[in-house]
Amino acid sequence: MVQLKQQTYASYITERYDRESEGSLTDFISRQNGHLYLDGQVNLNELARRYGTPLEVVYLPLITKQIQQMQAWTTQARHNADYCGAFLYAYATKANFATEAVQTALAAGAHYETSAAIDVQIAHYLWRQGMLPNDRLILCNGSKEPAYLKAIQNLRLEGCTNIIPICDDLDEVMAFQSSAAPFQFGVRERMAGNRDGRHPGNDRFGLTADEIDQVVDYVAGTEHQLTLYHAMIGSQVEDREHFLAMLRDSVIAYCRLRQRVPTLHYFNFGGGMPTSAYKLDFDFDYAGFLTALMTEIRDLCAAYHVPMPDLIGEFGRYTVASHSLYLFEVGQVKAGQSGGPDWYLINGSLMVSLPDSLLVDNQQFIILPLDHWEATARPIRLAGRRTCDSDDVYPRPAQEPLVLPDSGVGLVIAVFGIGAYQQMISGRGGAHHCLSPEPRRVVISENAGQLRSQSIPQQDQAAIMRLLGYRPQRIAEPIEFPATTPARRTVQIPKTASLTASFRRRSRERLRLVRAR
Ligand SMILES: *Cc1c(COP(=O)(O)O)cnc(C)c1O
Repeated sequence: MVQLKQQTYASYITERYDRESEGSLTDFISRQNGHLYLDGQVNLNELARRYGTPLEVVYLPLITKQIQQMQAWTTQARHNADYCGAFLYAYATKANFATEAVQTALAAGAHYETSAAIDVQIAHYLWRQGMLPNDRLILCNGSKEPAYLKAIQNLRLEGCTNIIPICDDLDEVMAFQSSAAPFQFGVRERMAGNRDGRHPGNDRFGLTADEIDQVVDYVAGTEHQLTLYHAMIGSQVEDREHFLAMLRDSVIAYCRLRQRVPTLHYFNFGGGMPTSAYKLDFDFDYAGFLTALMTEIRDLCAAYHVPMPDLIGEFGRYTVASHSLYLFEVGQVKAGQSGGPDWYLINGSLMVSLPDSLLVDNQQFIILPLDHWEATARPIRLAGRRTCDSDDVYPRPAQEPLVLPDSGVGLVIAVFGIGAYQQMISGRGGAHHCLSPEPRRVVISENAGQLRSQSIPQQDQAAIMRLLGYRPQRIAEPIEFPATTPARRTVQIPKTASLTASFRRRSRERLRLVRAR
């Protein structure tokens, strides 16, 4: 059992993570005057008081900020490394397909990476609407069933020349044999996926060197062009040296191929760029990594006498993990058994909200209390009260317990970093495990410098029953899940204006915060 010395939660945070209880906690979480803020802008204590819990908070300007920050780092790295190629930022939409996330990324200038047939249909729709401009690439990855190939073909035939199918299988390039319009193609390197032997699942993607040669031969006799080489090594790669070492052989393979294929000019390293959203002690030097990567590619290209490629990154987690979070409240405390940590039971489900805690080895999430930082720190485990599943716990049994204030019932906690993958895996809008309803969602967006919020009510019982084929009008008394903060009962749901006004009232505090960072 974990022995925790008698100390306040605030001093635990200082001792364990070297962070003060006031000021910045990560690059997107801070605490000011005893209140927890997202991106120095969104006062989470105030949102919890206003709307009650459970609550999902979606803050779109953080997506824009992530993209702009990466673009600034790549500009700096290109300068540092004297790199001649361009750098293209693509959003890997499978991390979060929600229209608000995708459109925010596109508005910030991102290119579009697809993983499925319907993903291409969404891109097609956005392209028609003008939200996905003609100068953006649409990069199509993954194994392509006939529907996926057809969706790509349709978009190309309608005049989108920047759609690039990245071959995962030889059949795919053959499928476009009789295409009325020429394509740009990519090839995905199979070796890259599991070069270190640690990611057996990744080994299924892409082509062997021999198969890539067959694509080259095939394309040579057609109107099509091979323009892109894809090599993705994994996800959330926090070890910079490992990232570089794994890509090195792929860059060499690119150079060799470029010697034979003059149309080749993109090197796409796929995903893997880590997000700061999962750990308080996260530490990754993005600009340093990019400078080292570009320097290496520059030198290898010189050695092989080929021009430096335009680089593409496909950013999933990095783009969207941090922009949304959940607020839950502890509704019950249960003693742990045989000296184990006690249970804090929350008004939600952990396995529905954080499916990666079950799917990804040792996946962590940042969980912080909104209040009671001066209370005694205590090791606990969280359990969801809205399922009766023994897997509905976090941290997982093999992980060390969470430390939270011992204030127990009524404590509101913020679960950060849930913007990537969690809702897609869980099935946004669906009927969830033990029928746990989706909480109210507050979506905050920015328009011409003004923050606006939109509140979408909690998923109701009738909707859940309808999804499962019941006819809820026959049910006499629907059950309500009222938000649990008492203030909720007296406070009207505010109009956008009042939230904006309260943001403005706090702007002086925020300015100080921004400067402090
Ligand atoms: C999932 C995926 C990505 C995004 O990965 P992250 O690690 O979330 O950035 C990028 N490219 C491809 C081909 C993918 O499958």
